[in-house]
Amino acid sequence: MTAAFLAVAFGPILFGAVFVASTVTAVDRSRATERLAVAAAAARTSIDALCQQLRAAADAVALTADHRGAATQVVGRGLAAAVQVTDVTGQIIVATPNAPPAPWRDCGDHARPTGPVAALAVRVELHDISGAALGTVTAAQPVDPMLVARLAAVTGVAVTLLDGAAPTLTVAHSTESDGGAEAVLAAASALREEGVTSTPDGRYLRRVGPAPGQPLPLVLSVPSDQPPGLYPVLIAVVLLAALLGVAVAWRLARVTTRPLVELAGAVDRVAAGDLTARVPVRSGDEIGRLAEAFNRMTRETGGYLAALASSRDQLRGHLAVLGDTLASTHDLQRILRVILHSALAATGARAGAVLLTEPGGMLVAQCTEGLDEYWAGTGTPQVPLGSSVVGAVAATGQPCRGRMETAAASPGEPRCGTYIAVPFAAPEAGRTADSRCGEEGAASARPLGVLALYDRLGGEEFDDDDLATLQTFAGHVAVAVDNVRVHEEAQRLSLTDPLTGLWNYRYLRESLRREVERANRFGRMVSVLVLDLDRFKKINDTYGHAAGDTVLAEFARRVRGEIREVDLAFRQGGEEFVVLLPETDARGATIVAERLGAATRNTPVAVLGHAGVQESIGFTVSIGIAVYPDHAETGLRVLEAADEALYAAKSAGRDTWRVAQDTSRITDPGDGGTGVRAAHAAPPTREMPVSAVTSSPIDGLPRAGPVDATGAPAERDESA
Ligand code: GH3
Ligand code: MG
Ligand code: MG
Repeated sequence: MTAAFLAVAFGPILFGAVFVASTVTAVDRSRATERLAVAAAAARTSIDALCQQLRAAADAVALTADHRGAATQVVGRGLAAAVQVTDVTGQIIVATPNAPPAPWRDCGDHARPTGPVAALAVRVELHDISGAALGTVTAAQPVDPMLVARLAAVTGVAVTLLDGAAPTLTVAHSTESDGGAEAVLAAASALREEGVTSTPDGRYLRRVGPAPGQPLPLVLSVPSDQPPGLYPVLIAVVLLAALLGVAVAWRLARVTTRPLVELAGAVDRVAAGDLTARVPVRSGDEIGRLAEAFNRMTRETGGYLAALASSRDQLRGHLAVLGDTLASTHDLQRILRVILHSALAATGARAGAVLLTEPGGMLVAQCTEGLDEYWAGTGTPQVPLGSSVVGAVAATGQPCRGRMETAAASPGEPRCGTYIAVPFAAPEAGRTADSRCGEEGAASARPLGVLALYDRLGGEEFDDDDLATLQTFAGHVAVAVDNVRVHEEAQRLSLTDPLTGLWNYRYLRESLRREVERANRFGRMVSVLVLDLDRFKKINDTYGHAAGDTVLAEFARRVRGEIREVDLAFRQGGEEFVVLLPETDARGATIVAERLGAATRNTPVAVLGHAGVQESIGFTVSIGIAVYPDHAETGLRVLEAADEALYAAKSAGRDTWRVAQDTSRITDPGDGGTGVRAAHAAPPTREMPVSAVTSSPIDGLPRAGPVDATGAPAERDESA
């Protein structure tokens, strides 16, 4: 770039200097040529005039009879320097004194002289009247420095008379200044006739003659008209220009190139990822502004990057917590809280809620954050499906985002500026939701719930990125809810008997321990009933195993129908069942036993027999009863006591119940007041408040015990 600046600054000046020099030289040469041509013509004319004068003098001498007198007169008048008259033999008969030395050159001779020329002469023939030759008359004028000086004066240029022929040319006379004659001689030897050349000392030369009418070999010279010192001046100008160019280039390099080089270096550093790169701002011009803009750009990009990194770190932290929570717990509330926090942090929302659909068609908030000041209603936010934004989102299965139009929120609608709500469904539903609100034909399965966020920080509406983020979190919620429900279901299945739906033996042991402990703590009683179907083997044998299963399932359903919500029914194994009656004494237990016996005995079961024929099977049950703490001190002992009582009932002929008697006596329903019979004979005078369910559950299926909304066994309130 600096080189380019140099070329731009220096080039035109160099070019201009060369142009000026060549133009001046050309003009000078042409003017010199012109002057030399004029001078050559003048010299020719002048010599011609001299020759004419000499001819006239010779003629005048020849015409008179007194040659001597005429010659003296001619010389005296200055028409010739000397006159000689010769006879036919060439003998000089008249000669004026002071004649120039030989050789004389005839005016008509135009051959190249081979030696020095001392004088110019004109010869005229002498004849007598008859025309016979008498001799000659010659008039001469010396060729001396004076003649040359006269010629120089006439022509106005320096004149040099050469002597001899090339290559042994010498100077005869010259009006050149000192040393000039040698230069003329050097140049003249190479010069053609009428040609023009220049000498190194800056003069132009022209050769004139010898030629017809001009017998002298002359060289005319004019000094160059060029201003003196043109070339030094031009060279000085060019050098100055070069210096100036270098100075300009240096300045430009300082002002332009250097900042650009610095900028290019900084850009390279930024490209390599170093956002701390800055360039010095040296001026207020375009380059300075460029540097400022660059610095601002890198500073702001650095800021954005830092903010991005910090938000990424935050998000990473949230995701770590989220991942840990999802992996390590089945506590739905905790999972939802963490997901909601993460979603709020990721989108920059002020408040949010996770709502799950309840069987009753309501969306109930399971977890909220910052919603208290927004929510129009009181208590747990609840929204009917289909109403308000979240209700509509749950009903249509379509996400929705926007700005609340009315300041006064409807019930179930938070008072907020902006909102975004995304539905989530069980993972296997696998639907992809469209990003617009309330689109038709989207929902094929009812969503599990809705994840809603409110009031994006900064007041802007939630955008498509937020939607995508929230859908990811909604996916986490769906998986979490589903996992927890699956977990609860698995737990429930591991504790229930698949044929009858009653709790299994594993849960019996657990429940027995817990109920005994509770009874112990509150000073209450627990009754244990052990039930065994009578002669069940025979039913199997007669009607088949499948019919036996049907009987077992029907029996379980009837048992479940005869006990309270708080009572627990178990299938201990085979056709043996256990019923736990918390806070129930022996009397209460016998009433339940009586009722169970009646419910079994009174209605036969319709089954498909061996041949596929519809059969009606009547069956009975024997029941043993024991009470904690009356009959034993531990749960298992009570169970054993009830087993013994059952054995007694079987022994007593079946289809009856017996109460254990302090490890020795067994109460018999038909004992008539003595021994075991007394317990049955005397009906209980005071019954405990039993909220017995006398009809089957709505779905007709037997239940192991009270179940909560999720289908998981409900834990009873310990303090009840
Ligand atoms: P008792 O009056 O003395 O109790 O006579 P019982 O025939 O009922 O007594 P036992 O214990 O000898 O027979 C129980 C039978 O119950 C044996 C077995 O085939 C049958 N059983 C056990 N579990 C199942 C079951 O899950 N399904 C069916 N169909 N039968 C079962
Ligand atoms: Mg049995
Ligand atoms: Mg049996």
